Amino acid sequence: MTEKLGAPLAQPIFERIAIIGVGLIGSSIARAARRVNAAHIIAIADTSPEAREHATALKLGDSVSASPREAAAGADLVVLCAPVGANAELAKAIAPALKKGAVVSDVGSVKGAVIEAIAPHLPAGVHLVPAHPVAGTEQSGPDAGFATLFLNRWCILTPPENADAGAVARLRAFWEALGCNVEVMSASHHDLVLAITSHVPHLIAYNIVGTAYDLEEALRSEVIKFSAGGFRDSTRLAASDPTMWRDVFLNNKDAVLEALGRFSEDLTALQRMIRRGDGEGLFNLFSRTRAIRRGIVEAGQETAAPDFGRPHGEDDKGGA
Ligand code: NAP
Repeated sequence: MTEKLGAPLAQPIFERIAIIGVGLIGSSIARAARRVNAAHIIAIADTSPEAREHATALKLGDSVSASPREAAAGADLVVLCAPVGANAELAKAIAPALKKGAVVSDVGSVKGAVIEAIAPHLPAGVHLVPAHPVAGTEQSGPDAGFATLFLNRWCILTPPENADAGAVARLRAFWEALGCNVEVMSASHHDLVLAITSHVPHLIAYNIVGTAYDLEEALRSEVIKFSAGGFRDSTRLAASDPTMWRDVFLNNKDAVLEALGRFSEDLTALQRMIRRGDGEGLFNLFSRTRAIRRGIVEAGQETAAPDFGRPHGEDDKGGA
């Protein structure tokens, strides 16, 4: 597994790209694309004056505008990087400015609803190839991004069945240049897989942290004080952007409800094991789940260091 982005490409993959929404993901794309020369010109648009100000100061693009249409004009690749709920409005806004042959993509954590929101607005001759880089942090905004965010992470492309093969190949090459491993699958399959691996775990984290928040004051402060016992790791997920996650749940309703149904059944089974004192059942389940963690570490998707690699000081390693 490499730690660094590759050397800059001799020829950019796209001459001009537009990044609409320059938050954590959009700004990371801008940084990485610049670093590896995946695009010659980078045009940025964002509705937030503060984000535009920071993007300009950080020199994230060749132009920074309030108008998505202006940024998208003449672009060979347009990447929608705003929250999923903004996509229909954005597609409508950029449509008149899109050049023939342009690739329109996105980074949304949900794919079926995104295709439904964007596709109807695109003119003929423009290629829609949705994408989801499975990479991120709990932070938001242009300052939170970094060029290596996508390094060794997966980017899932969900092209419609009749998608232009050349457009899919160029987008694949773009994400590979940014450090990703690329996989292609259907939007519905993506939404079911991500419901289990990302959406429901976030919901569980929001729920447990919400439960703690609703405790009476004295108990709540004890929860924060002794948070290292697992609660702290849930708070990282539960600190994720509220707008983004609201849109994820509203737009991946069916798959999330399906995954939650299975989760509730398994939770009931666990409750029963505890009530009946079924130690063997609990031990067997916890042994199976431990193996999953090992598999994720072996696949290079997580650090093998204990406690997520949090520093504990060299002295901790010694004896007396
Ligand atoms: P973010 O840091 O909050 O950035 C989003 C930016 O888009 C903000 O500056 C926001 O401005 C702006 N924006 C909102 N509506 C807009 C519009 N109509 N036109 C132009 N700009 C607009 O969000 P993010 O974490 O980068 O997430 C962006 C997308 O990436 C989401 O679709 C999400 O599903 C996907 N994604 C996120 C992660 C992750 O871990 N964060 C991972 C993979 C994919 P305001 O602040 O004023 O709203």
